[in-house]
Amino acid sequence: MAKKYVYFFGDGKADGNASMKELLGGKGANLAEMCNLGIPVPPGFTITTEMCTYYYQKNKTVPKELEKDVDEAVAKVEKIMGAKFGDTKNPLLFSVRSGARSSMPGMMETVLNVGLTSETISGMIDQTHNERFVYDAYRRLIAMYSDVVMEKAAGVEPADGHGVREQLEHELEKMKKARGYNFDTDLTADDLKELVEIYKAKVKQVLGKTFPDNPKEQLWGGVKAVFQSWMGKRAISYRRIENIPDDWGTAVNVQAMVFGNMGDDSATGVAFTRNPATGENVFYGEWLPNAQGEDVVAGIRTPNPINKAGKTEDTEHLSSLEESMPKLYKQLDSIEKKLERHYKDMQDIEFTIQKGRLWMLQTRVGKRNGPAAVRMAVEMCQEKLIDKKTAVMRVKPSQLDELLHPMVDPEAEKKARELAKGLPAGPGGANGMIVFTADAAEAWAKEGKAVILVRNETSPEDVHGMHAAAAILTAKGGMTSHAALVARGWGKCCIVGCSALQIDARKKQLSVNGRWLKEGDWISLNGTRGRVYEGKLALVQPDLEHNKLYQKLMTWADEIRELGIRTNADRPEDAAQARAFGAEGIGLCRTEHMFFDPERIMAMREMIVAENETDRRKAVMKLLPFQRKDFYGILKAMKGLPVTIRLLDPPLHEFVNLDEKQVKELSKKLGITEEKLKARVESLHELNPMLGHRGCRLGIAYPEITEMQARAIFEAAADLTKEGVKVYPEVMVPLTGIYTEFDNQKSIIDRMAKEVMKEKNVKFKYLVGTMIEIPRACVTANEIAKTAEFFSFGTNDLTQTTFGFSRDDIGGFLPYYLEHNILPNDPFQSLDQNGVGQLVEMGVKRGRSVRAELKIGICGEHGGDPDSIDFCHRAGLNYVSCSPFRVPIARLAAARAAIQNGPQKK
Ligand code: PEP
Ligand code: MG
Repeated sequence: MAKKYVYFFGDGKADGNASMKELLGGKGANLAEMCNLGIPVPPGFTITTEMCTYYYQKNKTVPKELEKDVDEAVAKVEKIMGAKFGDTKNPLLFSVRSGARSSMPGMMETVLNVGLTSETISGMIDQTHNERFVYDAYRRLIAMYSDVVMEKAAGVEPADGHGVREQLEHELEKMKKARGYNFDTDLTADDLKELVEIYKAKVKQVLGKTFPDNPKEQLWGGVKAVFQSWMGKRAISYRRIENIPDDWGTAVNVQAMVFGNMGDDSATGVAFTRNPATGENVFYGEWLPNAQGEDVVAGIRTPNPINKAGKTEDTEHLSSLEESMPKLYKQLDSIEKKLERHYKDMQDIEFTIQKGRLWMLQTRVGKRNGPAAVRMAVEMCQEKLIDKKTAVMRVKPSQLDELLHPMVDPEAEKKARELAKGLPAGPGGANGMIVFTADAAEAWAKEGKAVILVRNETSPEDVHGMHAAAAILTAKGGMTSHAALVARGWGKCCIVGCSALQIDARKKQLSVNGRWLKEGDWISLNGTRGRVYEGKLALVQPDLEHNKLYQKLMTWADEIRELGIRTNADRPEDAAQARAFGAEGIGLCRTEHMFFDPERIMAMREMIVAENETDRRKAVMKLLPFQRKDFYGILKAMKGLPVTIRLLDPPLHEFVNLDEKQVKELSKKLGITEEKLKARVESLHELNPMLGHRGCRLGIAYPEITEMQARAIFEAAADLTKEGVKVYPEVMVPLTGIYTEFDNQKSIIDRMAKEVMKEKNVKFKYLVGTMIEIPRACVTANEIAKTAEFFSFGTNDLTQTTFGFSRDDIGGFLPYYLEHNILPNDPFQSLDQNGVGQLVEMGVKRGRSVRAELKIGICGEHGGDPDSIDFCHRAGLNYVSCSPFRVPIARLAAARAAIQNGPQKK
């Protein structure tokens, strides 16, 4: 049977359903589903994403059969609507919209009012008895079609940057000005009739082609333009940011037009079944009487709240749909409830009311920010709409990250000078320097500056700058405007509809309530309250401890996950912070960070430049009391939990970067000449220090260092044990590549433990294990695990040594690699599962082949990366260790990994 490329929906029946998103796109699948649910949907049909793929494979053509299928589908719609496409008496009009598998707000094209021609226009006027309305629709069609189909899809680059749409807008403004009008709505039917002719002439002049006067030509132009827009610059750039593959393609939805701008009994709106900014379980949305859908989202008019519950201080005076059209509101409310119950998730819906009749145009899972995601997930589970696992899967690790984000310091806010109010579209706080264009935002952010992108409104062309900015502020638009939608998706602080702003982007300045600000001036935003402040206000971290919803979600994550979560911390404060975030131990305590304060560094330097063992031992022993205190603090902060302490790792020359003054001081202290000291330091210089005398190679060459560190750990452990504090020290040898290296160090450590326990007459448990961060260690893990009691993968060094990429110098070529798809992402951020991952798997398998109970963790940066955590679950690791602020994310990611992959194989 020939492949089915066209799926019909209408009149309570549809060929497709919600499970067919890959084929029909999100919009098409959901239109079909709504239809099947008996919800009023204008009839239409979806051309599949496979056709988009075909279109690109077959040199931008479509097969002959498609035309036949489309004709048949058009005939079905005609039958339901009782109107005919291209008919001069009772014409049917279509909307043509894109619809990819996952929503890409505003990234692709739409053409409305398709089918209006010089011949059908009179029929339309007869049907609506509204000449003005019809000519307005015609004008909109010409503007949209010439822009989307004749310019963008045709690949025409506008001369001097002014596209045809902008030039048509200019004609509109010219007419309004000449006739003394303020609003588009002031234009009369005759004005619009004239304007339509001006538009057509302008299109011809700018693009050298006539606007098509044939309904079928318009329809096919629209369909192909949607396919073309899949490969448009904006869509590609959005897909890169969101990691959406290019080969998914978009579907095309062709649907009978319904009009929200047919008079005062018509309206249009966008709504959410719960508040997408807070997660609160209230129907939330915006509407405009007598308007087309695009008017709500484009931010041209600030819309009204949909119900009384959604009114704020600023919108109190506006009439809600609940008040203006109570019956229709009730119908809409029952539909939104039905949709949420059916989909078991918050829905983002679009509707139109045409002459007192409600039509649903779209439903999809609504985007939400982090705090809202957590609230909805937990409350929906408590309402028994979803189970715990679904609730955990509903919150992305990046959304949880938003909860850890800063807010404007309330104290600073009280004292700050408020510049203006706007709508709170994306919560959290931010400060930054004003920039007026997306390009400037991107460029300044690249230089490491914090910027706030300030615009009248944003459009999909701005996404790169919106992504780079710390926050977004717009003068126009509502809570469902482009800026609000995109910011919410990314969890970015955002304020929209801040009407007091008068922006002059060309002069790079703005005025707001009598103040002038220019590019580079600092402002601060409270996105939760919609307040804009002058200057740079301090930001504070939010209080997770008292956030009950967050705590609940985390309890569920903890019940589900199998991976343990530890933290990388070398100071008691960090350890305590991580513990508060839920860390179950320390996976990596880097001892080298402890040597940099003035007193210690001197002893350290003495040790390093010592020429014989006696001098070195003397110097090393000066460090013992310091180290004992360090370990005492950390072990105490983590009482009852394991603490992995790693022995000294970096090359010694890092500690003897001396200036002239320091050379003088140290040489005096040591009683040697400056020349001699310099010569000693020089002798430590290595051409390739990362592959040089570091890691366990230090402790092997200078056993007294290992002795001192092991003794300090065990003395601290002994003292705490005597105080009744439970301690579990795990001593970790760095950079092992050969089992003999490990055995050498282990014998010193064990000897020290024995000595200390005897001296202090106390017993405690401890383990001795190793970092696995050299490929050879993975390959020979079965030899190392004979004596090593635990492994911890140091994937920073393992990535470095597997790729042969210097972890400190990769910045020189990584951007090029990413841009040219040579690497999919930075392997130092997200584990290279195919390469480095195989070594990890080998290490796990071989290690456990000789010691079945071998405890294995990871402590490289990857321990806090959700994709890498998923890998660690699959690889059968016992725990991941990450920086304190990643701990909540790691807990959630570990639970998601358990749900997605099922139980661990150990
Ligand atoms: C590692 O190499 O992954 C590691 C954790 O050690 P460091 O980053 O200190 O080299
Ligand atoms: Mg390392």
